[in-house]
Amino acid sequence: MATSSEYRSAASWFKALAHPERVRLLDALRSGDACVCHLEALLGRPQAYVSQQLAALRAAGLIRDRKEGQRVYYTIADARVRPLLERFLGPAQAPIRLSHCRCPECQGGELAAASSAGARPLLFVA
Ligand SMILES: [Zn+2]
Repeated sequence: MATSSEYRSAASWFKALAHPERVRLLDALRSGDACVCHLEALLGRPQAYVSQQLAALRAAGLIRDRKEGQRVYYTIADARVRPLLERFLGPAQAPIRLSHCRCPECQGGELAAASSAGARPLLFVA
């Protein structure tokens, strides 16, 4: 039987997941790492809002960030997230390029080095 502290820890983990936009961010990140500006473009929400949701996910240990030059990239840090999302949302999709996103990946550059996308084709979304 789990301890009280383990129950509290599990509850805060689920609490971090209990928000549609945070689930959406995690869904995007399981396709590969993404910078903040890409996640902003994906959600169509202001930077402050997206940062707030990312901070909640990071505080719960679900994601972590790393700096690459001027950009901050996010990645899934907790492997338990992937099977859970797959169960609810199906397999991870290929990374999406957004025509209105100014990140290097969407502007035609290479995908982030740590991306799990491999050689899969990118989806273009207008
Ligand atoms: Zn982008």
